[in-house]
Amino acid sequence: MAKRVVIIGSGFGGLFAAKALRRADVEITLIAKTGYHLFQPLLYQVATGILSEGEIAPATREVLKRQKNTRVLLGEVTDIDVAARTVTSQLLDRTTVTPYDELVVAAGAGQSYFGNDQFARHAPGMKSIDDALELRGRIFGAFELAELATDADEVDRLLTFVVIGAGPTGVEMAGQISELARRALVGDFRKIDPRTARVVLVDFAPEVLGSFGDHLSASAQRRLKQIGVEVQLGKKVVGVDRDGVTVEDEHGSRSLIPSFCKIWAAGVSASPLGRRLAEQTGAEVDRAGRIATLDDTSLLGHPEVFVVGDMASLKHYPGVAQVAIQGARHAAKIIEGEERTPFVYKDKGSMATVSRFHAVASVKGLRFSGFIAWLLWLAVHIVYIVGFKNRVTTVMHWFVSFLGRGRSERVATEQQVLARLALEQVGDSFSLGSEAQIQERTSRTAKVR
Ligand SMILES: Cc1cc2nc3c(=O)[nH]c(=O)nc-3n(C[C@H](O)[C@H](O)[C@H](O)COP(=O)(O)OP(=O)(O)OC[C@H]3O[C@@H](n4cnc5c(N)ncnc54)[C@H](O)[C@@H]3O)c2cc1C
Repeated sequence: MAKRVVIIGSGFGGLFAAKALRRADVEITLIAKTGYHLFQPLLYQVATGILSEGEIAPATREVLKRQKNTRVLLGEVTDIDVAARTVTSQLLDRTTVTPYDELVVAAGAGQSYFGNDQFARHAPGMKSIDDALELRGRIFGAFELAELATDADEVDRLLTFVVIGAGPTGVEMAGQISELARRALVGDFRKIDPRTARVVLVDFAPEVLGSFGDHLSASAQRRLKQIGVEVQLGKKVVGVDRDGVTVEDEHGSRSLIPSFCKIWAAGVSASPLGRRLAEQTGAEVDRAGRIATLDDTSLLGHPEVFVVGDMASLKHYPGVAQVAIQGARHAAKIIEGEERTPFVYKDKGSMATVSRFHAVASVKGLRFSGFIAWLLWLAVHIVYIVGFKNRVTTVMHWFVSFLGRGRSERVATEQQVLARLALEQVGDSFSLGSEAQIQERTSRTAKVR
């Protein structure tokens, strides 16, 4: 009988592990709580109306359609039993227990508010399609509310966008909101001038894009200034509420940045499945919840369990897509029967866009900034977007937004903007219920209409 391999997650780690095993004589079951492969690096373009969510999230089932040794199951993994070698997953009221001979866990990471979870209510993070669509509604909604407002201070608050975290996600997000206000929306409104919008990028660190080094960091900061982003560094965020963001400088003095639309782009917290595995195996978990693996990406005492990507802690490798992809391929080789060797991450470089036609890139010791770095960024992203169809439509949308001024994806629904807060109000006890209960509710709603 072929070996049963279970893969948890359809992100970079999960999908690339499955693909690496396409010719192996194994039976793969890929279980993920989302039915798509999310290309997180382009989430900010969904939030700012450049791309549609479908372009960065093709259905996993379709991507793996021709891979006959793989079955895809939708469901949230709620437990892993390493002694019984089973994975338990849940979809509505249906519980599925899947046995494995070998397991690859690539459940990624969520947002961390560094112990201030109350900030989440007012400042959504940037980790999922839901986050990006909610933010799209909040960003475009802020301009709409400003057009209606009659009080000058209120207009200022509505047209102030605060992005917290000056890493790649924060820089890209701030840059895009500024371009949206200063290019794409010009002429769309009659009362307000979107160009007067204030975009503030806040971080406790002394520089933007700290991991890129002084030269690129300075270049990115200069460009941000040119496109109208106000960078506030060395500022600790101590409060986020309806009115705005309160920051504290190094002398302890506090000030409020009045703002309607706040975006959290700082901090990650690994999937809780890491802790669940640690309880059973004795492996260590770091402050971000990442579980320590052995050099070959497996867990101590459990050579049949591999953990890769953002939820693994190994040799201080960064939480980037290439670490997940290469780690997954390494684990796949061992599953296929190759000798167990240590996983060594080959750094292919890092890059971030600051605005259209301007990026910073650090590739094998070489540093680029400006247009050349942007072309590099473009090429790399086109290669890694999954699916030919998605590549074509993405490039078309980039033409519209970067050569022209348009934003093709401006639709935002009430549900996208309000559902997270509404669910929060209902509380943890809320559940969609069973299949039968949902059917019943749907038909009742239809009758009322
Ligand atoms: C906004 C943003 C921008 C980024 N930009 C870049 C960039 O420019 N370059 C770069 O290299 N990296 C970037 N990254 C980081 C990169 O996306 C991650 O390092 C990478 O996605 C990690 O892959 P992963 O497989 O570990 O996790 P993910 O890709 O997050 O995948 C996790 C998968 O697990 C599933 N899952 C989670 N919990 C469960 C559960 N309980 N049950 C079932 N399934 C579950 C999820 O649905 C998902 O399919 C960015 C990240 C973000 C959020």
